Order: sequence, then C-alpha cells, then structure tokens
Amino acid sequence: MAMGRRDTFKLAGVAAAAAVMPSMATASEKKVAKKATGKSVVIIGAGFGGLTIAKALKKSDKSIDVTVIEKRSMHMACPLSNGLLGGLDNMSLSMFVGDYSQPATKYGYSFVNSEVTSIDRKAKKVTTSTAGDIAYDILVLSPGIAYDYEKQFPKWDAAKIAHVAQSCPAALMPGNEHIALLRQLENMDDGNVYIVPPAKGKYRCPPAPYERTAMIANYLKKEGIKGKVIVLDTRGGKFAKGKAFQESWKDLFADYIEYKGFTEVTDVDPVAKTITYTEFKDADDEKGVSKTEKYEVCNLIPINKCSPVIAMAGIEHNGAGYAMMDGYSFRSKTDKNIYVIGDAVTHKIPPSGQTAIWGAHRAAGQIVAQLNGKVDDPKKGLPAKAANVCFSMVGGKPEEAIMVTHTFSADKSGVLKGKGNVPKPKDGNGKFRSKGTAKATREWFGGVMREMFA
Ligand SMILES: Cc1cc2nc3c(=O)[nH]c(=O)nc-3n(C[C@H](O)[C@H](O)[C@H](O)COP(=O)(O)OP(=O)(O)OC[C@H]3O[C@@H](n4cnc5c(N)ncnc54)[C@H](O)[C@@H]3O)c2cc1C
Repeated sequence: MAMGRRDTFKLAGVAAAAAVMPSMATASEKKVAKKATGKSVVIIGAGFGGLTIAKALKKSDKSIDVTVIEKRSMHMACPLSNGLLGGLDNMSLSMFVGDYSQPATKYGYSFVNSEVTSIDRKAKKVTTSTAGDIAYDILVLSPGIAYDYEKQFPKWDAAKIAHVAQSCPAALMPGNEHIALLRQLENMDDGNVYIVPPAKGKYRCPPAPYERTAMIANYLKKEGIKGKVIVLDTRGGKFAKGKAFQESWKDLFADYIEYKGFTEVTDVDPVAKTITYTEFKDADDEKGVSKTEKYEVCNLIPINKCSPVIAMAGIEHNGAGYAMMDGYSFRSKTDKNIYVIGDAVTHKIPPSGQTAIWGAHRAAGQIVAQLNGKVDDPKKGLPAKAANVCFSMVGGKPEEAIMVTHTFSADKSGVLKGKGNVPKPKDGNGKFRSKGTAKATREWFGGVMREMFA
C-alpha cells in the first residue's frame, strides 16, 4: 500500500524525535559495553536523588558524561500522594508522574531504562539486565529502600509475603502500590481502613503513615463512608510531628480516627480480609490481648531496609543495608569513586525527598571537584538551616497542612546530623495547621517536580 502524506509526517516526527534524543537508550540497542571517558559518572536510580544529581552535574560541568540507569519506565512521585488518596480538590495522577526523557534530552545526559544486576568495583562497571555493561569513573547510588517482610514476619513464606504485599499495598515506594491503594479505597464498602506504620527502625518519610491517616479519614468523611481509619502503631503517640498530627486528628476527624499506640501486628489473612494483632495497655504491659478484626482496606507498611544495590556494590553498610559514609561527605566510606545519596545513606538526617535533593547537590559539588583534581570541603555551608522542610496535609475542607523543618550540622563526633522543629504558622490561630502551610505544600511539590523534570 502506498504511503500517505500523514504517514510521511508521522515518520518524519519519529526521526526528529530520535535526533533530539540520542541519549535515550532502549534495551535492544545497548548490548555493547559503554566505555568510561575519564569523566564518566553513572547514576543508579532515577528518583529524587538520581534525577537531581544528573541535572546538577551537567549544569555544573558539561564535559562530564552522565548516565542514569533506572528499572522503572515512568516516574511516580511519593510526596503529596496521600492527598490523592484523600480525594483533595484539584489533584490528579498526572501531577505525580514524570517522563525521564524530558530532562535527559534537555540537560544532555543518557537515560538507560534497565535494572542494574551487578556492580564490579574492580573493573569499574555495572551490569544491567537488558542493556549490557556500562563502565564508570564515578558511580552514584540512589536506589532508595526495600521492604523487610522477612524480618517482621519470619513465619511467612515467599508466597504469603507476595500475597500480602499485593493485597495490603505498603505504598512507600514509587509506582503501582499507590494506585493499588487508591483503587481499593475507591472500591471499598462501608467498613474500616487499617494503617500499620513500620513497627521499628529507620523508615522512609516518617510522617507519611500519619499524613495518610488524616487523608484517608478525609476521604471517608467526604464520601460518606461509614467506617474508621484504625492505626496499629508501636510508638505510643511519639512519632514525627506527633503533637501536630494528633491535634488535627482530634479537631477534624475525631469520629473517623482511632489510634492504638501499643500494638503488634502478628498476622494478616488477605482472603478473609482480617488482621490479627496484640494490643498492649501501655509500654509496661508485657502480656497484651490478641484480637482479629475485619478490614475493608489494609495498608500494611513493613519494616524498611535499604535497597540491595548498596550491598551489591560491596561497600560497607550497617545491618539494615544503609551505606556507611566518609565523614560529612556523600562519598562512601569504602570506595572514593562511589557516592551515595537519598534514603540509602547512614547520615543521621531524615530520609526524605528534600534531603535527597539537598544531598544530591552537595554530592554533585564533591564529584565535580574530584573529577577536576580538586577537593570540596564536606563541611561547606554547615550548619544548613531548613535543609529539610517536610509538609503533611492534614485537612481537606479547608485544605490545611503542618510542617517540620530540620537544620543539618556537622556534629563534633564526625556525623552529619539533623535537628527538627515543628513550628506553629502565623496564620494558624494558635494551631499547628494552616491554609497557608497547605498552599506552601503544593508550591513545594511543584518545585521538586521542576527540580527533577524541568
Ligand atoms: C507517601 C509518601 C510521602 C512522602 N512525602 C514526602 C514529603 O512530603 N517530603 C519529602 O521530602 N519526602 C517525602 N517522601 C519521601 C521521598 O519520596 C523519598 O525520601 C525519596 O523518594 C528518596 O529518594 P531516593 O532517590 O533515595 O529514592 P527513590 O526516589 O525511591 O528512587 C530510587 C530509584 O531507584 C530505582 N532502582 C532501585 N534499584 C534499582 C536497580 N537495581 N536498577 C535500576 N534502578 C533501581 C527505583 O526504581 C527508584 O526509581 C514521601 C514518601 C512517601 C512514600
């Protein structure tokens, strides 16, 4: 069949797109090992840390050859996603997704959509599942977290873990889990939603489960669903922004939120849709009472550990897999050519998107200096005021939010440390929450998406 005018235009469009996107490698094209140039930086993970540092490196020194490797084909941001679950006005899925090719093309770095399966520090190369080997001079790891169901539920086998993970989505990692939780809420009947924050240890975005509590309560109220959000926590009310959250829950959703602060979840049955937990009276109660309750939706967030990519690199890490750092810098303690940013570090700073961005800029400065034979003082600019600002939506009508700020300092013991403050805003009438803070939350979110994608 003869090719029509429309087809010619279509092909011309494809050719033009290919011409401006030489950096977009597909799995089949890239079987041959990519060699290092002497100034080659390979970044594993295109989340908050990875995308920020790729852009920062190219903006600072165009001669650096930057390659970002990411296993997902599309970005889905986690911050503010609880607002989507809460049915806040003017919020849609498209606000949260990003196209990796956009910043790669604009700033001139390569994007490889593949999974890193091994790292050879001696040969200075990484192996990918579908795009061959890629050599580096400097390797940046920003792979984020993983869930540790095995540690929390040692009696569960792999099939049970997979079943629970799918049926009770944790929604702490970018991707499908948020959508799964959203769809479950949209399809739920009257009944209760259970939220289980990670039982212990460091975990991604400490306020996230409590923001989710407020937002799902907002959803139940808005939709007239007869039910409660029941939080099964181990922290006895002592959690991130605890006072501020509890003030809002009490003022806005007293009939919708039940917080049980001394509980231990022991089992979940995704077929019967029941959750079994031991409820203790207080921190001193050693016996507790076991209860099994029916749920409509269950958001079980297991203990976190670090992504296995840190161990894959063979660099020193702690028991949960987080990378040991070289002093206040973002270089790994073990290898001067490996940097680590984002949630994967052991610095005593909260794991957040804002921190990942902050660390990515510092690491970029340190890498550019190293590649140009210079040294960047890792204490430069410290203490950094408001290095982390983390917002949480707590109300829907009117939309209101609370916030925490952190100052990061070079502690005398050699540790990069954060100290938090939960302020009461001027427009809050003596409360922790305000409409102005909600407006700032949306502005902050727009800003971080621009940081990564524009
Ligand atoms: C509900 C929720 C709300 C939040 N709210 C806020 C907030 O208000 N403010 C804030 O600052 N932070 C917030 N956060 C936290 C923030 O999202 C994370 O701290 C941030 O994403 C960490 O960045 P990262 O680069 O370390 O990891 P990620 O952004 O998770 O990126 C890691 C990337 O690495 C990729 N990857 C992993 N392994 C491989 C591999 N082997 N090969 C290739 N690619 C790989 C992953 O697919 C992923 O895309 C929130 C998080 C959640 C879940």
